[in-house]
Amino acid sequence: MSIASNLEALKLETEAVGVQLVAVSKTKSNSEIMEAYAAGQRVFGENHVQELVEKAEALPKDIQWHMIGHLQTNKVKYIAPFINLIASVDSLKLLKEINKHALKSGRVIDCLLQVYIAEEDTKFGFDHAELIELLRDEEFIALKNVRICGLMGIASNTDNEKVIKAEFYELKMLFDGIKASFFRKEDYFKILSMGMSSDYKIAIQEGSNMVRIGSTIFGKRVIKHYKNND
Ligand SMILES: *Cc1c(COP(=O)(O)O)cnc(C)c1O
Repeated sequence: MSIASNLEALKLETEAVGVQLVAVSKTKSNSEIMEAYAAGQRVFGENHVQELVEKAEALPKDIQWHMIGHLQTNKVKYIAPFINLIASVDSLKLLKEINKHALKSGRVIDCLLQVYIAEEDTKFGFDHAELIELLRDEEFIALKNVRICGLMGIASNTDNEKVIKAEFYELKMLFDGIKASFFRKEDYFKILSMGMSSDYKIAIQEGSNMVRIGSTIFGKRVIKHYKNND
């Protein structure tokens, strides 16, 4: 299967039913990304700042780049001028740094708050209580150059569909609750990003409206080792 035909098939399950498809292109070459681009894809996700910056410089300017991986505060400055969405905000400290660099670039940067829903304790993100605490924090409320557009979560890496389904259900309930309590009048708070290649069908059933899909589009990744652990 080609990248174009993989995308075509996926679009029927996602964009055709109102779910945004983010093509996760981490570790993939510029020519592979251009194959997806030629097939009409414009939204791409990356999880490594240096790779993201290099690709954004080399590739067409109408690509919308999403940062989907853990972001270190000292790297925010490199992506703040152009990033379309930071989907992996996991602390107030990071949000303040994004706000600072967004202001410098004269921008308001769209962000998703990452919620910890998996069983593994290696994943990043807020738990429910931390999320509520953040949304009530005066320091958070004062940030004017970040716009919270929704939530993101990664389910457990398991074959047990019941576990995955329960985790996505929990995130959807949390999303609805947060929307009603904190963003009732804010139309922009509407993104629920959950689902990747292995679990996007379950995620969509449970109410996801943004899926982040890599290997189903581009094929398996060869694992890359980075020097700085980011
Ligand atoms: C790599 C990655 C994906 C895509 O994973 P696939 O299994 O290749 O679809 C989605 N979300 C995040 C946060 C990722 O790091």
